[in-house]
Amino acid sequence: MAKKQFKAESKRLLDLMINSIYTHKEIFLRELISNASDAIDKLYYKSLVEQASGVSKDDFSIWISIDKTDRTLTISDNGIGMTRDELESNLGTIAKSGSLDFKEAVDEGAAPDKVQTAKDAIDIIGQFGVGFYSAFMVSSKVRVISRAYGEETAWEWESNGAEGYTVKESERGGNGTEIILTIKESTDDEKFDEYLEVYRIRSLIKRYSDYIRYPIMTNVEKSRQVQEAEIENEEGDEAEKREPIFETYIEAETLNSMTPIWKRGKNEIGDEEYNEYYREKFGDYTSPMKVIHTSVEGVVSYDALLFIPAKAPYNYYSKEYEKGLQLYSSGVMIMEKCADLLPDYFSFVKGLVDSQDLSLNISREMLQHDRQLKGIASRLESKIKSELLALLNTDREKYEEFFKAFGLQIKFGIYDNFGMKKENLQDLIMFHSSKEKKLVTLSEYVSRMDAEQKFIYFAAGETVEKLDNLPQTELLKDKGIEILYLTDDVDEFVLRVMNEYKEKQFKSISEGDLGIEESEEEKKAAEEKAESNKDMIAAVKEALGEKVTEVKLSRRLKSHPVCLASGEGFSLEMEKVLAAMPMNEGVKAERILEINSEHPVFEALKAAFEKDREKIKTYAGLLYDQALLIEGLPIEDPVAFSNAICELMSEKTAVE
Ligand code: ADP
Repeated sequence: MAKKQFKAESKRLLDLMINSIYTHKEIFLRELISNASDAIDKLYYKSLVEQASGVSKDDFSIWISIDKTDRTLTISDNGIGMTRDELESNLGTIAKSGSLDFKEAVDEGAAPDKVQTAKDAIDIIGQFGVGFYSAFMVSSKVRVISRAYGEETAWEWESNGAEGYTVKESERGGNGTEIILTIKESTDDEKFDEYLEVYRIRSLIKRYSDYIRYPIMTNVEKSRQVQEAEIENEEGDEAEKREPIFETYIEAETLNSMTPIWKRGKNEIGDEEYNEYYREKFGDYTSPMKVIHTSVEGVVSYDALLFIPAKAPYNYYSKEYEKGLQLYSSGVMIMEKCADLLPDYFSFVKGLVDSQDLSLNISREMLQHDRQLKGIASRLESKIKSELLALLNTDREKYEEFFKAFGLQIKFGIYDNFGMKKENLQDLIMFHSSKEKKLVTLSEYVSRMDAEQKFIYFAAGETVEKLDNLPQTELLKDKGIEILYLTDDVDEFVLRVMNEYKEKQFKSISEGDLGIEESEEEKKAAEEKAESNKDMIAAVKEALGEKVTEVKLSRRLKSHPVCLASGEGFSLEMEKVLAAMPMNEGVKAERILEINSEHPVFEALKAAFEKDREKIKTYAGLLYDQALLIEGLPIEDPVAFSNAICELMSEKTAVE
């Protein structure tokens, strides 16, 4: 029979499996059992939906048998089975996303030379759920005999890995699949023989597949005594001495407890068991940051097992990422990713919900409007929120890690729908503080505010370092006022949509009026100064024309000569963010040029105004361009700017 070749990608994965130096080859069993269980699920689900009579969960099982002489380990199920086409397409190609992710991880350099520790290696192979091909880690040959439900003919797929596979007609009593592994010979390093021992199989099933919902059975050889030993008869006659007689018999043993992890008590499940479950089921190679295991009894009853991943998946902030929880109805999975169970701002949560109150044959469309499901979703939402707040209060460091991974999503959640959810989420967000030099919450900021401080101040820009150097921060810092540094594009929009927190309004430090109380003397002095420099300021404004809406003496600058402030409405930072987005060109913030009257440059301006009216134009232009540069905004004419500086530098003395 002609051998068929594997598809190129499958071949690569297969090669990896065959030549694997991976130390936890034992996971092949978990993979095959999980496939068997899925196949039974599919048939069971079908029978429920079609309301087939006479089918019960008890009809299903997975059988394991060992033949030491042939060196075979067989895993068989009475699930949905595969047609000839399915055998070819399912086992000849990598169809599933898990394997593809795995392949990508290998391609991207999680390859053996980059794998730092043995643990990384486990993480990569072990946690991806590489499926059926993992059988080749321990087998020299794999045969799959399968008969699809409703079909008369069975088909057999066979492969020894590298050279491709064959498919031929075969025999099988009923529907289902039988995977027959010819176990490799043991070597010095690897004890493949172990996979032919019941004790080893039993312990692997306990470890990895205990919660599988169908019995995993095997025949175990047992022995019982059928005749007692009798040393002497009553007269002490030696001839009557009897040997004890034992006989061996075969007994079916169920190897798994069949209780899903979420149905077990929290206190009997250790961290490691939760973590392992998560990594295996949700294809992550790091343990979750937080596990939420909850059971609710009431109008709607459910068990939920939720995980907050430690890191954002690589595609998290992209359209490809699909949110959702697995949905079970009385232990039967009815949907792999039920999106309606999670709001977008908690889309990072992984896990499952099992409820007896959901009907099994509910369609996706109906589910969206299902009252029970809505009830569960809203309870889960509050639960996730309260667990996050608890984390914030009890393990600050961990919460910050969480926030670095998923905070952006929560901020989007506040901004979305015009701030509909702002009250709900406002206590979960954090910003970098000018004072604390770390992330702080709004509540912490407000609790530190002085009685006379009216606003929550923030500065928005590219990095904390740049923001901390902004001239506009000088006055506030001088007065000991804390500033929140906003470095994500969405941040300022978030605060604007919130408008206030605990009745304190937000204020950008680049707004024209900072709303800081001044004493009568301060006010008077400032007004006098403005009055006496009125004409000079007017000349600067005239020189700049439409570029600025206003030029004024600054009340906030201490050591810097100039800065740009914006009026109310759009800030310069928002202008920058919007300009970077398509379709949004043309939004301009008001620009107010503030000049520091205490700075030596101010004297030069004054001198120019008195002696050389032409010069004031150059100076005004230079100061404005500097202010733009400080803001991180482009200057209109860099060549003119540079020429003006050169001119200044080559003058012996500027203006006398
Ligand atoms: P995965 O199970 O993650 O999809 P696998 O490589 O393990 O990936 O299996 C590929 C496909 O082969 C499965 O999706 C399933 O359709 C089919 N399959 C594997 N094992 C069985 C089985 N025991 N019964 C029926 N179909 C199976």
